[in-house]
Amino acid sequence: MSDILESIRSIVGAAGLISSAEETAQYATDWRKRYRGSAMAVVKPASTAEVAAVVRACHESRTGVVPQGGNTGLCGAATPDSSGSQIVLNLSRMNRVRAIDAHNNTMTAEAGCVLGNLQKEAEKAGRLFPLSLASEGSCEIGGNLSTNAGGTGVLRYGNTRELVLGLEVVLPSGEIWDGLRGLRKDNTGYDLKQLFVGAEGTLGVVTAAVLKLFPLPRSRATAVAALQGPDRALDLLKGTLDACGERLTGFELFSDFCLSLVLKHFPDASAPFAKRFPHYVLMELSDTRPGDAVASLAESVLGAALENGEILDAAIAQSNAQAKAFWKLRELISDAQAHEGPNVKHDVSIPISGIPDFIRATDAELARAHPGVRMVTFGHVGDGNVHYNVSAPEGIAPDVFVRQTAAINLIVHDSVARFRGSISAEHGLGQSKRDEIRRYKSPLELELMRKIKSALDPHGIMNPGKVL
Ligand SMILES: Cc1cc2nc3c(=O)[nH]c(=O)nc-3n(C[C@H](O)[C@H](O)[C@H](O)COP(=O)(O)OP(=O)(O)OC[C@H]3O[C@@H](n4cnc5c(N)ncnc54)[C@H](O)[C@@H]3O)c2cc1C
Repeated sequence: MSDILESIRSIVGAAGLISSAEETAQYATDWRKRYRGSAMAVVKPASTAEVAAVVRACHESRTGVVPQGGNTGLCGAATPDSSGSQIVLNLSRMNRVRAIDAHNNTMTAEAGCVLGNLQKEAEKAGRLFPLSLASEGSCEIGGNLSTNAGGTGVLRYGNTRELVLGLEVVLPSGEIWDGLRGLRKDNTGYDLKQLFVGAEGTLGVVTAAVLKLFPLPRSRATAVAALQGPDRALDLLKGTLDACGERLTGFELFSDFCLSLVLKHFPDASAPFAKRFPHYVLMELSDTRPGDAVASLAESVLGAALENGEILDAAIAQSNAQAKAFWKLRELISDAQAHEGPNVKHDVSIPISGIPDFIRATDAELARAHPGVRMVTFGHVGDGNVHYNVSAPEGIAPDVFVRQTAAINLIVHDSVARFRGSISAEHGLGQSKRDEIRRYKSPLELELMRKIKSALDPHGIMNPGKVL
């Protein structure tokens, strides 16, 4: 065993070290199995002090450290390179909720807590932790913070960045920064915690966080509205926000082609209306008061939208089961698209008002350059996040289509840039967009990022080869 592994073993013990190639392989492969690396070892510390000692040892020996949570990331950011010289620092054993303060509306949790468990712990205390993603059964809060995860609640509660009040971080030197403050007001200079949020493990290891909690919603209304297109969806969004304010907690747009793929590949799913329409919006209202006030609100908003021609039809879920079935239609789109064959995915964000023009312009350009491609466009339109996915033309050989990936990315991402959007709304840069981002961020912005990186991590040991 090498010197560095010997010293790591003396810190974490046998229970915290996995070094056989067979066992490390799953930690060195990403969720979608697009990236396969090779780890010198997987290290699973059980406390902040252990993380600090491991990172210090890596700092001294200049060993690369790849932090990892639930390994559900979608851009290869938690996968080591293929050299076998980096360690994966997996935080899953640090999974304690240290405190819940119902009066301060905060929860202090360790980085390895699974998101779904944190939601349950908050609920037991009569509180809501609103971060919600389809991967919540596996992803961990340290990973959510480090990717600034989004999900379905962003419209009302914000990204993970907006849900954190304090952090505890092990710096690349091995020093521990205790920034576990539960303050909503703190104007004492630079907001250091935000540097680590969305940093994808390149600036330090998040070991714990103070998270914001909210009152639990006690009533909900879920509805699907049928409409002509994204322009009408924006009218509906504005009208609903005017009428419902922060009771609007979800607003998702999907095209009829998305619905048709779900119905084709998941025969148990059923269409929300007897007739088909060009587009649909799934919206959810929630309130902290029990009763049917939000259902009445949904009825009046949708009734008014029907009357003024903004929408073509509407269905309000009459039961929890029907609400879940509506959400299922939206959630199954990605899987349905995978069943349909090869595709090129884009997780982009656009200022909300620009979404209809972005979709029109990009659809037209792609159709010209790649005739027959099928656009599977959906997303959290309430917060400007569009999943602009492109399925292969029917009948094309998969390898022929896959060779067009870079050209398709270029068209979509250049279009995003023209609309002053972002080429990564939720998933981060990791390895997959590390090189591409150079085309879209200004040299000055990249230089500022490099300066921050080298100030905190002069030897470049934290998650080498990711983001920058
Ligand atoms: C089915 C599915 C649905 C998804 N839906 C969404 C969605 O709606 N919205 C969304 O934003 N994402 C979504 N994702 C992506 C993914 O779940 C999120 O990015 C999530 O936040 C990653 O958490 P994780 O614990 O799995 O992190 P990992 O994948 O383990 O790591 C992600 C990044 O964070 C770093 N990291 C992890 N832990 C730490 C730590 N303690 N300190 C420092 N750095 C750390 C890693 O080095 C890596 O750079 C989805 C993924 C799947 C598979």
